Amino acid sequence: MNVIFEKSVAGRQGFRVPDSDVPVEGTLPEKYLRTAAAKLPEVSELDVVRHFTQLSQQNFSVDANFYPLGSCTMKYNPKFTEKVAAMPGFAELHPLLPQLRGGEQYVQGALEVLFECERWLCEITGMQAFTMQPLAGAHGELTGVMLMAAYHKSRGNSKKYIIIPDSAHGTNPASAAVAGYEIVSVPSDKKGGMDIDKLKAALTPECAGLMITCPDTHGVFNSRIDEIARMVHEVDGIMYYDGANLNATLGRCRPGDIGFDVVHLNLHKTFATPHGGGGPGSGPVGVGSRLVKFLPVSRVVKRSDGKFALNYEYPDTIGYIASFYGAFGVILKAYAYMLMLGRDGLKATSDHAVLNANYLLHRLKGAYQIAFDRICMHECLFSAARQAALGVHAIDIAKFLIDKKMHPPTVYFPLTVKEAIMIEPTETESKETLDRFVEAMLEADELARKDPEAFHKIPSTMPISRPDETKAAREAKVNYFSSHK
Ligand SMILES: *Cc1c(COP(=O)(O)O)cnc(C)c1O
Repeated sequence: MNVIFEKSVAGRQGFRVPDSDVPVEGTLPEKYLRTAAAKLPEVSELDVVRHFTQLSQQNFSVDANFYPLGSCTMKYNPKFTEKVAAMPGFAELHPLLPQLRGGEQYVQGALEVLFECERWLCEITGMQAFTMQPLAGAHGELTGVMLMAAYHKSRGNSKKYIIIPDSAHGTNPASAAVAGYEIVSVPSDKKGGMDIDKLKAALTPECAGLMITCPDTHGVFNSRIDEIARMVHEVDGIMYYDGANLNATLGRCRPGDIGFDVVHLNLHKTFATPHGGGGPGSGPVGVGSRLVKFLPVSRVVKRSDGKFALNYEYPDTIGYIASFYGAFGVILKAYAYMLMLGRDGLKATSDHAVLNANYLLHRLKGAYQIAFDRICMHECLFSAARQAALGVHAIDIAKFLIDKKMHPPTVYFPLTVKEAIMIEPTETESKETLDRFVEAMLEADELARKDPEAFHKIPSTMPISRPDETKAAREAKVNYFSSHK
């Protein structure tokens, strides 16, 4: 192919594809060359447009319908933040610009956004400093656990394991294990919180720390969390706060004040970036004073002349954990979002998130068993055990909702509750939408009692109804041709 490139450059014709029936001399052995033009399918532009438009309409979108997926759901994704992220002054910056001599003067605005965003997140969480670099929640966790490890190493501590409650998001134990720690799982008590006696038993001088989501995936805020923090600190353990879903407590309480040493946030959940299909993400990590010196580089500093600069000179840093400066576009959206809402707006976010979840809890608890009988935080947790006794399982109710044009909630998670249905309505849904969802859930319960067999044919409105999920996972057909055989 070099030949073609050189030829076309020499002729100053730009890139040129040679006629397919003219062999290119000296590039491929004769026997591999075509003797006739390839028979490529011919499709009109209109047919191509229709094909892709129809495919795109098969996607479920939060712009089209209700999306109450527990825990990992997209919260508020205002459109104006997309506009901000697309502003040419930001979007067209070359990432190497700040590395060039004198280049920093051209990126002062971008550096200021990173600097200010870090300060605001500190204010929101009560931490001392943040790294804006991690590219997802799980990446933030790994970074946080690496900071934890660096702290222990610097003190000559010999630490072996991290304690994680059994209700934790799956990424928590995964991140701790990737960072080289063993995992000790602590069960939940009857009220949904971590069992304190079991925690006590698990705490030894070899404990590196505790990773906890608070409020947890039960939708429960652990009211003894400050006591837990004291216990973990007594063995020189680090308190890690999984703040992926900060919309539960935003503006109400700060992990730093409770006694947490490390926090990660998911900007792509709580702070305005849509993340369907696995990206893009941003998982900044905040730390208390003991861990600041270990933060990854680069870090943005404000010099005495008021100008912003990138600083790499931190001798105790854990080093680079991402290329360049993190997911800058996502950080920019979070910045714009915080500016738009302001202090009172951010507080209102958590008010509405919690109110909406409790509304659903209240309206549905007659029909569905509730996992924990108490006021919930940003999400509510049900069990379909009663329906399951009639042969209708959590997965069937999820499929029923698809026909009602609603995204199913999270089912079978957390693992602590049988037939779990975990619902997070988010702060942005109207009462009308919540009521429609309640009606659909009540209808599913009624159908379960009247005609459980009917669920076998659901969903009926989708191109694919009930794939054999085990078979689909074992014999994945991932390309167009094999899936159409
Ligand atoms: C989503 C989520 C994570 C992981 O975040 P990713 O960006 O998906 O890696 C971790 N913890 C909790 C509680 C979450 O909801």
